[in-house]
Amino acid sequence: MRDRELVTSETACPQCGALLAVPHQVDTFACTHCRSSLRRGTGLRVHRLFERPRITREAAAGFLRGWFASPAGPNDLEKEAISEVDGLHYVHFLRLRRTGADVVVPLAPLPTPEVLDLGGVPAQLDGEPPAEGEEAGARVIAIDEDLLKEELRRAAADPEVDDVLVERRAYYPVRYSYRGDRYTAVVEAGSGRVLAERRPARREVLGERGVAAGALLLLFAEAVVVPGLAARVVVIVVTAAGLYPMLRWAVARHG
Ligand SMILES: [Zn+2]
Repeated sequence: MRDRELVTSETACPQCGALLAVPHQVDTFACTHCRSSLRRGTGLRVHRLFERPRITREAAAGFLRGWFASPAGPNDLEKEAISEVDGLHYVHFLRLRRTGADVVVPLAPLPTPEVLDLGGVPAQLDGEPPAEGEEAGARVIAIDEDLLKEELRRAAADPEVDDVLVERRAYYPVRYSYRGDRYTAVVEAGSGRVLAERRPARREVLGERGVAAGALLLLFAEAVVVPGLAARVVVIVVTAAGLYPMLRWAVARHG
């Protein structure tokens, strides 16, 4: 974050939560919404911060392909998934800096659950509002002003809140389908990180678990079926020795 002095600041009216620009060189002023009288320096200071996207839509599609190819998903995900990366979107979060931990609240209903996770991903934010035309073609999810007022009124009444930020975050929404199922994700526009609530399960995991379970069952069955203690031990050791490379392979693959 930039130096505090460079950041645009406003005050939240403690009575109604409305955001007000503090006039210079006055000690008291009236809230433009509820008319209550406010003293300069009281009320919650609110800073607005803006994220400048650092990756293009094409780069976002590249990060998505990399994510498809990662070992956490099925092997053929990259080949089989039919995906669409949408244009740049902006969304707003309210960040309450409280003693202990930040509280992050979305300031509008969110189109997909992943967008909420965006609020928890650190980003480089700028106090300078975007210039005219800078966001041309992007979709801005507007702040729900009633929700903002309500959250600010609540924050003003909370003595643990030190600082309040309205953060504008940038992302690319993703929709894709894989083997008949449909999924959503977002690519964070700062670092290209892919966020997803749900993704196709890695199918090999089931296979490897099957191998491990089968091996244990085989050892157990031998212990029961093979007569004579010595013979049993020999058979189990031989089987285990044969299975060991396979088990090791399964464990290594499994992580
Ligand atoms: Zn007010």
